[in-house]
Amino acid sequence: MPTHDWKKSSWHSFVAQQQPNWPTGPVFDDTLKTLSQLPPLVFAGECQTLKASLAEAVEGKAFVLQCGDCAEDFSRCTGPDIRELLKVILQMSVVLAFAGEKKVIKIGRIAGQYAKPRSSDTELVNGLELPSYRGDMVNSPEPTLEARTPDPRRMLEGYYRSAATLNLVRSFTLGGYAALERVQAWHRASLDALPAGQKYEDLVRQIWKTINFMSAIGLDPQHVPQLNQVTLYTSHEALLLDYEQALTRMDSISGGWYDTSGHMLWIGDRTRQLDGAHVEFLRGIQNPLGMKIGPKYDIDDIKRIIERLSPDNEPGRLTLITRFGVAKIEECLPPLVRELTREGYKVVWSCDPMHGNTYQNQFGQKTRNFEVVLQEIRSFYQIHRAEGTVPGGVHLELTGDNVTECTGGSRQLMDQHLHQNYQTNCDPRLNAEQGVELAFELADLLHP
Ligand code: PEP
Ligand code: MN
Repeated sequence: MPTHDWKKSSWHSFVAQQQPNWPTGPVFDDTLKTLSQLPPLVFAGECQTLKASLAEAVEGKAFVLQCGDCAEDFSRCTGPDIRELLKVILQMSVVLAFAGEKKVIKIGRIAGQYAKPRSSDTELVNGLELPSYRGDMVNSPEPTLEARTPDPRRMLEGYYRSAATLNLVRSFTLGGYAALERVQAWHRASLDALPAGQKYEDLVRQIWKTINFMSAIGLDPQHVPQLNQVTLYTSHEALLLDYEQALTRMDSISGGWYDTSGHMLWIGDRTRQLDGAHVEFLRGIQNPLGMKIGPKYDIDDIKRIIERLSPDNEPGRLTLITRFGVAKIEECLPPLVRELTREGYKVVWSCDPMHGNTYQNQFGQKTRNFEVVLQEIRSFYQIHRAEGTVPGGVHLELTGDNVTECTGGSRQLMDQHLHQNYQTNCDPRLNAEQGVELAFELADLLHP
């Protein structure tokens, strides 16, 4: 399919899965018109820089840490919530960079992750059949018909909250908060009693020794930008195609089309049909793309989708995010890696150890177990090493809050503890402590 046939609206001629039943009329039309006139959230040049960094991850010269909420929540678009998430990402990346000795590409599921695919259009709540909750950009989770009716104005609200989030992320990452000298300040007192807390303290001491050594030989850390600023890229699932189209603009420098709602967009396991609207939309934008692959994949189908999304096989363009679950990864990953490598596709291989390992506990809560999550990552590494390919990164659902949504970890959370602080409206997330613990385990895997 030649790119010149593509328009930002050409997806309308294809079947779009997982779209809300938006009410038609002036509210819907006016919302999209307003969105299409508002400023872009990200700049095309940033997307190109991210693509170039991802090309390094294809070769194993950098590691992709993509993480954040399953679904962002409008009510949690607050300074402290954003700061706590950023803090855990900074802690994890410093562990990976220092202990794992690898450049870390930090990508948040942030500033736009407001829409969710669902397994069913409706759900039965207290005998009432209601539209499913599809994320704050579509409807509200309360179990009433009014709350669950899709409201297009929520897309505008999502845009503004994404802009506010991104604004604070940029201030924190460029304005001194993320300076390596503050590595001690990112520490959490709650980690103190845990092995990861001790390891983090040791790491902080080593980092200080390094900074002091730099000063001693006359390199002023204040004047080394890499020590004072970090880049956190944004990403979300490109699910609501009307929203994504409204934010798609032509870059005046390169002449390419960019979806300016986020730096990286991914296509979900439920919406990646070869002849579907999502593949059609994403093939025409120049942002780096992700594609989720679950256990039911068809290998020929995957090859055709890759050829459509990445016809030039440009390294960094495509990240394949596999999410098989610990029980299926041994069966599903090796043939995929072997075949795509044989075809010569240059992709980043990333492991999502969350979505294939979700279960419902005896109290009806959706959860995941820390050790199982870690086990899928370990298998991912073993398989890639055995195949001679590059394990390029991880894709995690986590939060900076002290939630109790996933079991396990060194606090040994069990199913019966999860009620203490179970907050998610969607999938269960690792908490900040579990995130830092996971980073230490990952650092060991990075240099075996
Ligand atoms: C997700 O990342 O939240 C998600 C829904 O994933 P998948 O498309 O892999 O099911
Ligand atoms: Mn999820």
